[in-house]
Amino acid sequence: MDHLEGFLTFAEQSPTAFHSTAHFTEMLRQGGYRELKETDPWLVDAGGKYFVTRNESALIAFSVPESGFNPFRITAAHGDSPAFKLKTFFEDRTAEGYTRLNVEKYGGMIMSSWLDRPLSVAGRLVIREGEGIASRLVNLDRDAVLIPNMPIHFNRDINNGYSYDPQTDLLPLYAWGEDSGSLMNELAEAAGVQPEDVIAHDLFLYSRQSGSVWGAGDAFFSCQRIDDLECAYAAVAALLDSTARETINVCAVFDNEEVGSTTRQGADSNFLYDTLTRLGFALGASDGEIRAAMAGSFMVSADNAHAVHPNHPDKYDKQNRTWMNQGIVIKHNANQKYTTDAISSARFQRICEKAGVPVQHFANRSDIAGGSTLGNISNSHVSMETVDIGLAQLAMHSVCETAGVKDLDYLIQALKTFWSEE
Ligand code: ZN
Repeated sequence: MDHLEGFLTFAEQSPTAFHSTAHFTEMLRQGGYRELKETDPWLVDAGGKYFVTRNESALIAFSVPESGFNPFRITAAHGDSPAFKLKTFFEDRTAEGYTRLNVEKYGGMIMSSWLDRPLSVAGRLVIREGEGIASRLVNLDRDAVLIPNMPIHFNRDINNGYSYDPQTDLLPLYAWGEDSGSLMNELAEAAGVQPEDVIAHDLFLYSRQSGSVWGAGDAFFSCQRIDDLECAYAAVAALLDSTARETINVCAVFDNEEVGSTTRQGADSNFLYDTLTRLGFALGASDGEIRAAMAGSFMVSADNAHAVHPNHPDKYDKQNRTWMNQGIVIKHNANQKYTTDAISSARFQRICEKAGVPVQHFANRSDIAGGSTLGNISNSHVSMETVDIGLAQLAMHSVCETAGVKDLDYLIQALKTFWSEE
């Protein structure tokens, strides 16, 4: 449980992908990593440590061994989670005098989990600055809005599979009467800017519930955005605690996995390919040497996995099912929604053996279609041996997810071994 406290603080302070990226870059800076800009030429030295961000919501960090250019050892995770996003014009005053926020769904969340709990607003504001524009992170950081359920007296079917309409059922209440119309003022004040200077925004709702460790023996923890901040945090923590030997160690945290990855900061972009080729050229490698290095590289695609649900064990494959606190999950799928094959599974198992970390194997029931993740999407741009893994959790895509207290440290230990010894 060494890293869990740090993770829970990190998750609480990272309500959006913009915030998790900002916190990761701060951790990397403190660990001696220097920022490269995609818009500048790159100077990269043997023995150096660097990171680059895209859209302020995705990052790739890498450390170069003293011996210079080498094959890559990559871990990929994602920093976004399903949430409600505020539309451009978001304050909606009703005839009755309420002010609601006009929001739309980002990703596939469990909608009911967002109701009847204090929520707040965070993201980024883009403001006028001189002749141009500038971006400011913002987090209202107070209980500001709430999506109320209908009382059961007016909705007797609520417990019979009610279908929420996001256009009508899920608009959060912000104000009544005279106080309406001031959310942008509050946000501008929180960001330290003038409301009239704000010209655009990317703003999301988030839960105000703090992370919690609970259950007999404190076996479980719950907080927002465990998928996939748990893997992303493990990757950054492990990278900071490992030394590149004869490999270039790379940690990618992409955005927009929850909406298909097809954005310039998602896994289905040139971000990873560009970073690997640019750092290769900067280290003096030829095009042929870079391609040869990619062919000999290995990727761990780390995105959380499903633990058996205590009330629905029949939903899981009889033998290939996974549990919290029982080790890292290797994901398998015959149709290659997960990239894992016998070679990459075996290689990853050897890494975990060396690290002294248990592994488990997951496959869906053959009559249930599973989700997809980063590995195969990323491989269409940068192709290399890849294993899909994750940490077992409950209630994926709820606003409050649950995982096992032991697994975060297991993944950090395995990735440290991957980056230091393999
Ligand atoms: Zn995920």
